[in-house]
Amino acid sequence: MAFDYDVIIIGSGPAGFSCAMQSTKFDKKVLIVEADSNHLGGTWLNKGTVPSKALREAANLIQKFHSQFGDERGRKPYERFRMEDLMLYRETILESKNKKVKNDLIKNEVDTARGVGKIIDDHTVEVTDSLSQSRKFTTENILISTGTSPINPENIDLESSDILNYDSILDLTHIPRRLVIIGSGLITFEYATIFAALGTRITILSDTDDVLPFLDREIKDHLTDILKRRNIQVYYESSVQKIADNNLRTCTEVVFKQKGSDRTHVSETDQVLYIGGKKPNTSGLMSSGLEMTTDEKGFIKVDGNYRTSVENIFAAGDVVGDPSSAAASFVQGRLAACSMFDIPSDTPSGDIPYGIYSIPEISGIGLTELKAEELGIDVTVGRAYYENLTQADINHQKEGLLKLVFATEDLKLLGVHIIGENASDLIHLGQSIMAQNGTIKYFIENVLNYPTYSEAYRIAAFNGVNRVYKAGVKYKKILER
Ligand SMILES: Cc1cc2nc3c(=O)[nH]c(=O)nc-3n(C[C@H](O)[C@H](O)[C@H](O)COP(=O)(O)OP(=O)(O)OC[C@H]3O[C@@H](n4cnc5c(N)ncnc54)[C@H](O)[C@@H]3O)c2cc1C
Repeated sequence: MAFDYDVIIIGSGPAGFSCAMQSTKFDKKVLIVEADSNHLGGTWLNKGTVPSKALREAANLIQKFHSQFGDERGRKPYERFRMEDLMLYRETILESKNKKVKNDLIKNEVDTARGVGKIIDDHTVEVTDSLSQSRKFTTENILISTGTSPINPENIDLESSDILNYDSILDLTHIPRRLVIIGSGLITFEYATIFAALGTRITILSDTDDVLPFLDREIKDHLTDILKRRNIQVYYESSVQKIADNNLRTCTEVVFKQKGSDRTHVSETDQVLYIGGKKPNTSGLMSSGLEMTTDEKGFIKVDGNYRTSVENIFAAGDVVGDPSSAAASFVQGRLAACSMFDIPSDTPSGDIPYGIYSIPEISGIGLTELKAEELGIDVTVGRAYYENLTQADINHQKEGLLKLVFATEDLKLLGVHIIGENASDLIHLGQSIMAQNGTIKYFIENVLNYPTYSEAYRIAAFNGVNRVYKAGVKYKKILER
């Protein structure tokens, strides 16, 4: 039977985009269906990854400029810079990225259909546009890459109050003087440090007793110190009781309690940002009678080839659950294309790094010192503090730490943990060495450009070797390992 397309992709975020690009390289006919009538690129380009990073870059530049040159009138950054300027900076980047994605799709002859996609049967997708007009297309394969949407809290009415979520914060017209953030994940710390860089006084209300539990202990300690220096106050195990405007004091009051205490806290603020969980965009996606296996939260279950419980329907990106990142979605979309057209392809081997785009950045890969100890592996660590890096000196970015975790026995690199400028880029040097089962000797024996932040690897490697030496092993013996 001849179909209109080899694959119809529902959703144009990173998973859908990379599946489309890979499929065209296999000479396949591709249609992307996108519900957003103005933009392609999904959360990646329009509401998440890129806009928040553009905002971060602008805030980081302002912070560097402000701390380097100060202000003769003692003004805060929010009194010198306007949100409008930051948004303009973001808009220019989004415009050029949107154009590029559109051009890439045109150049590779990917068809696009604007409207909400619905799977009618395993070979038919119906697209309904904003004027309620529907068209049906047939296809051999389908990729679901519809992403996720924010979950609204049960006890707070986001619609009727002026509470922001990660979507609406991108439309702020001014830099708030005070901001309460309700949340505890990566994005909470990204936005907390972005706005703190602009002079905003930040309060974080976390409902958990710990945040970012996967971080190396020392990196977390470093982060805690940085938050303190930025005047960012974190209340753990807190539950919000009420959020209400106080017109007399022209502020919003957030009333909350902390676990184990009867005391009621009231935080006065200009703006509240709620960053909760996310739910998969699957509502109304399938005609009744078409069943697909999901987990208890509704995320679509897939096998190692990104195939759903229906033979020719695949799913990739946030809609299949963790790790829920643009980085992972790009890889998953490409692998789904390889699976559906029987092209052999290796899934990523080895550890996957994470990146937190706070100011400064945090990134890590592999075993933490604690985890290695729990597993009974004899490890030694090597540290490089940013204050000892020439590049950090030059850039006035002295807050930071790079920590190597390696096997004492053979110096094999097992983990890298970084907080500091460029951490999310720097991590990939460690990742490459780990992927090749390399040792920390690489950083000692090879020439690394100078001055660079990569110098931290060399300093940390020497620091680590010195620890093994101090533990009683002859230097010559160590370097023969
Ligand atoms: C504030 C923020 C910051 C982030 N920062 C980073 C970061 O720094 N690095 C990183 O790797 N990740 C980051 N992420 C996560 C990243 O944005 C997502 O993981 C990624 O965009 C998911 O890609 P996706 O392809 O699954 O779906 P999405 O990018 O969410 O795209 C899904 C698309 O499907 C469309 N759609 C939904 N339903 C339908 C339908 N029925 N018919 C047609 N179209 C439909 C939607 O309109 C949307 O365009 C961030 C997220 C947020 C919110």
